Amino acid sequence: MIDANTGFIDHSQILHVLENTSPPGGGEVAEILSHALEMKGISVDETERLLMVEDDELIDEICRTANQIKSEIYGQRLVLFAPLYVSNLCNNDCLYCAFRRTNTAISRRTLSQAEIRRETENLVSQGHKRVLLVSGEGLGESALDYSIKAIDTIYDVKVGNGEIRRININIAPLSVEGFRQLKDAKIGTYQLFQETYHHDTYRKMHRSGPKADYVNHLTAMDRAMEAGIDDVGVGVLFGLADYRFEVMALLQHVRHLEERFGVGPHTISIPRIEPAEGSDVSLSPPHAVDERDFRKIISILRVSVPYTGMILSTRETAKMRRAAFSLGISQVSAGSRTNPGGYSEDDSGAQFSLGDHRSLDEVIADIAGHGYIPSFCTGCYRLGRTGADFMDLAKPGLIQLYCLPNALTTFKEYLEDYATSQTRKAGEVLIEAQLANIPSDEVRQVTVENLREIEKGKRDLYL
Ligand code: SAM
Ligand code: SF4
Repeated sequence: MIDANTGFIDHSQILHVLENTSPPGGGEVAEILSHALEMKGISVDETERLLMVEDDELIDEICRTANQIKSEIYGQRLVLFAPLYVSNLCNNDCLYCAFRRTNTAISRRTLSQAEIRRETENLVSQGHKRVLLVSGEGLGESALDYSIKAIDTIYDVKVGNGEIRRININIAPLSVEGFRQLKDAKIGTYQLFQETYHHDTYRKMHRSGPKADYVNHLTAMDRAMEAGIDDVGVGVLFGLADYRFEVMALLQHVRHLEERFGVGPHTISIPRIEPAEGSDVSLSPPHAVDERDFRKIISILRVSVPYTGMILSTRETAKMRRAAFSLGISQVSAGSRTNPGGYSEDDSGAQFSLGDHRSLDEVIADIAGHGYIPSFCTGCYRLGRTGADFMDLAKPGLIQLYCLPNALTTFKEYLEDYATSQTRKAGEVLIEAQLANIPSDEVRQVTVENLREIEKGKRDLYL
């Protein structure tokens, strides 16, 4: 049923579950987890039951199952990207964000195309191949034109062997026609977070500006998909409302898109609120999520929607990020700055403070040292394997057949062109060991040849 205030998010159903569901016992949890191991996702009902679990040992059980599913479907790959903030002007008043209109504590700027080029050159010179273009919502009528120009500028940058091969984008929601223009500009994923699905909290947190309209924000993905954007990324800003409410509502959003478009979101982002300059809410979030509950959230999402990518940003510390990788995270940002101009200049005017300040090379060395394969792959998007086509591919075994070889070749490019000697040594050992996990002799052979070609200077080889 569609409600005028809350759209397709059924608040009374979720509140009913929260008030009337008792924590399940060990037997029931085991039954749900054995269903989850079939890797087809679990029912809404089963997810709700898992969210009620409070017993530490049972939470560990859920985490172990998530780890098993993550390893089976995604192997050891972790896709890397960096955000590129282009403007911190904003007409909205989101109480948790330093960019909000009423905050006088930060200086404001919108990057010129020349500045965007310089930022991109910096990212490419570090070894990045994927960026997330991020902007506040203060550019009014010119926002779409500006974003499209920014996309062209970023794709146009070449430094040595490097370039950006996929641009995902996190900007204000558009009309169907606006989204069509964005699609024509060749974006990868369109990302937008509902922040909180809890309507009362949403109203309190978004006091004015276009974002104050809950339903307009909620239905943005419908408009994006109507416009033909296959890959959309949803998310919750954890800390605003009860996380159990948020996860149930997020899954209602996923199911809504699946029912309407035959495919759910490509990614789910799970930011937790970080301290932001001039924001009291960010310093003491009303429903702060601790480490234990954060592990639980990631694991429950992994077992509920096994084929949807999950993104973790540098808001989290290195320690928390390592724990999260094993539970189901498939994409991470690295070496990030959250202020426009931050890769070329200082870090004033940032959106929030970061938990992980390491460089891309340090993050890669750490990831590789823990047995994960850093990947810069953009193959699916460039071969048109998006939306439902991607989901068909995203079956155990098949991912290993395409994504693992592409992870190894893009990682090899990084090692050849950008790595410190220490990272390079560790990376070569990892690539050698991981070749054995490619589940086809023929594909393994092609991959070995591609790795040799990269050593000789060829670039951008993918399956
Ligand atoms: N302005 C657009 C919007 O709000 O959707 C996109 C850009 S906004 C800078 C990107 C995201 O940053 C928001 O969706 C929000 O979840 C997140 N964010 C804002 N304040 C934050 C904070 N204090 N800590 C962590 N994430 C925050
Ligand atoms: Fe503006 Fe987005 Fe920050 Fe809200 S979250 S104040 S819309 S930049």
